[in-house]
Amino acid sequence: MTTLEDNAMKIILNTGVQGILQSDLWKKLETTSREGSRLAVRLEKKGLINRKKELVDGRWSFRLIAKTSSTSKIGSENTLGGCPCFTCGDLARCGDLQSISPVFCVRLDHWLLKLAKTSLNNASS
Ligand code: SF4
Repeated sequence: MTTLEDNAMKIILNTGVQGILQSDLWKKLETTSREGSRLAVRLEKKGLINRKKELVDGRWSFRLIAKTSSTSKIGSENTLGGCPCFTCGDLARCGDLQSISPVFCVRLDHWLLKLAKTSLNNASS
């Protein structure tokens, strides 16, 4: 995964089952809507997220939700339930504009990379 994809997945995963509107994700990533849309399509093709069409303030957008069905087949270590955030003692203090942030978390980076590699290996086999 690219750094942008990695950062996007961290943000999407942290929104849990609620997901995030893609326009909000682009703002957090400080990227353009065009690049953001391409990024979402790539993540969906890799089987990491679902994109659900949603009407927001009279305009169609997409809600991006981390996919659990494909990863749940992999094993408990690599499912969303294995996300280090769920057992992290810093969870309450972690977030945007905080000194502890998912964007700079090594534990989350390692877990996401492992999850992505396993997902890609499963998709190609
Ligand atoms: S510090 Fe890392 S593991 Fe803990 S909640 Fe934040 S992103 Fe998740």
